[in-house]
Amino acid sequence: MRIGFGYDVHRFAEGRPLVLGGVVIPSGRGLDGHSDADVLLHAIADAVLGALALGDIGSHFPDTDPAWKGADSVRLLEAVVALAGDRGWAVSNVDATLVMEAPKIRPWVDAMRERTAEALGVATGEVSIKATTSERMGFVGTGEGAAAYAVVLLHRSNG
Ligand code: MG
Repeated sequence: MRIGFGYDVHRFAEGRPLVLGGVVIPSGRGLDGHSDADVLLHAIADAVLGALALGDIGSHFPDTDPAWKGADSVRLLEAVVALAGDRGWAVSNVDATLVMEAPKIRPWVDAMRERTAEALGVATGEVSIKATTSERMGFVGTGEGAAAYAVVLLHRSNG
């Protein structure tokens, strides 16, 4: 088995959709970025790459690459999982925490878990998504941005 950790941050911006765990969440503003800025899926993708010491999503999908402009991060996560699969590894389970002041995401957590599990090729029960605020402290607390942390366990998918 191999374990990986991922962390990501995105800044909020007006006029952007809020996409978290592959789900569009009703909100007056979204996260800014080259892709759809799905901070949660980026942390998970980095955790998968980290488990295999394969660098980070910035090195695999540079934000200078027009192919990933406005990209659905579900596709990005699928690409990372395929990369792991090529090397004989599959995801066992994921535990992730989203740190964001608003909006409350509880009503969408199960949809996010389902969409993320699909991208990872695992059952929904293998994907944990938790959320917390930053108690109004720091850049998350002021609503300037959102952060996400993830740990992923991989197992040998062959041999
Ligand atoms: Mg990111």
